[in-house]
Amino acid sequence: MQVSQRIGGILGGGSDGWDVFNRARDMIGDGVAVTELTIGEHDIRTAAPILQDMHRAAMAGHTGYAAVPGTNALRDTVAKRVQDRTGVKTTRDNVLITPGGQSALYAAHMVTCDAGDTALYLDPFYATYPGTIRGVSCTPRRIATRAEDAFQPRAADIAAAAEGAKSLLINSPNNPTGVVYSRATLEGIAQVCTDHDLWLISDEVYDTQVWEGEHISPRALPGMAERALVVGSMSKSHAMTGSRCGWIIGPEDVIGDLINLATHTTYGVPGFIQDASVYALEQGTAFEEEIADPFRRRRAIAQRVLAGQNTVSLVPSQGAMYLMLDLRSTGMSGEEFANALLDAHQIATMPGESFGEAAAGHLRVAMTIEDDAFEAALKTLCAFAQTCAQG
Ligand code: PMP
Repeated sequence: MQVSQRIGGILGGGSDGWDVFNRARDMIGDGVAVTELTIGEHDIRTAAPILQDMHRAAMAGHTGYAAVPGTNALRDTVAKRVQDRTGVKTTRDNVLITPGGQSALYAAHMVTCDAGDTALYLDPFYATYPGTIRGVSCTPRRIATRAEDAFQPRAADIAAAAEGAKSLLINSPNNPTGVVYSRATLEGIAQVCTDHDLWLISDEVYDTQVWEGEHISPRALPGMAERALVVGSMSKSHAMTGSRCGWIIGPEDVIGDLINLATHTTYGVPGFIQDASVYALEQGTAFEEEIADPFRRRRAIAQRVLAGQNTVSLVPSQGAMYLMLDLRSTGMSGEEFANALLDAHQIATMPGESFGEAAAGHLRVAMTIEDDAFEAALKTLCAFAQTCAQG
């Protein structure tokens, strides 16, 4: 039997970029001790009080079907959070609760683009982006950002690619580059969206992980609330990756359409997860800073380690739980370097090429292991790069 072309085409015929990661997991399966600096998962687990609240909610009977758009309590809590952080009036009618940010990305493209439409995204990109667009039967159109601009997008590059497109997907703080888009960048993007009548899908799942500058939600820019869909998630801000709880913020009528989609796809998010998410959000910003703090610390460690050599350079690390390292001075591709580092030192990283051609010759390092081990791994990586550069 033949599966649909839509499903068969999700990967676009190429590699999914996870080869080094999979090889590392195979080595671990064979008993090799591998230092994993690959995926965006905290090295701490969800805090016990959040789990206790989840348990309380489940024992209190919140185990049946929950309201498809999300519980009123969580929608209100998310709306208040968004309004407080952005100043844009936001009510529960602007909020759909989703099973994580990933399904929100899918739903946001589903509600803005028809089959066959073109959807724009920026390179380097989070690994699922092109597949998400293909998954809704649309054509992804890649727009390269440039290493020489520290991967801040140029509005002119987006405008040049915008003809005939329906939507633009952006992500700040950015995975994989760690770059936070400046106000000027976002104003330029907003202008292109207005000029070309594009929906803006803004993935803000790292909004609590900002080390430099400030997080600006483009929905708060003039005229943007009517054309912006913002994706958020409990995963990164509250170390709740496995709970699968996220949201989309958008205009009321779009949220109404998204509720129809949710009714026919996910049928909502478990009530006990939503209750625990309300509890987690009520812990306030001090708790969110506590979750973000290990990455802030490790970024400082990385800046110190990298200052002591000149083979590897750090793309300005302004936010998110990753470092983007420029290895072009070694003359190797990110893929070659990541494979060689794994073989020589059992340190697993992600080649820049896994996130698009614009990140060729780079390496993404997740800051997701304990400080001392992280520092030791980075020192080994730098020494190895030096050996490679000397050929
Ligand atoms: N967007 C970006 C940029 C991400 O890095 C991730 C997860 N790594 C997601 C969305 C999805 O996160 P989740 O589905 O866990 O909310």
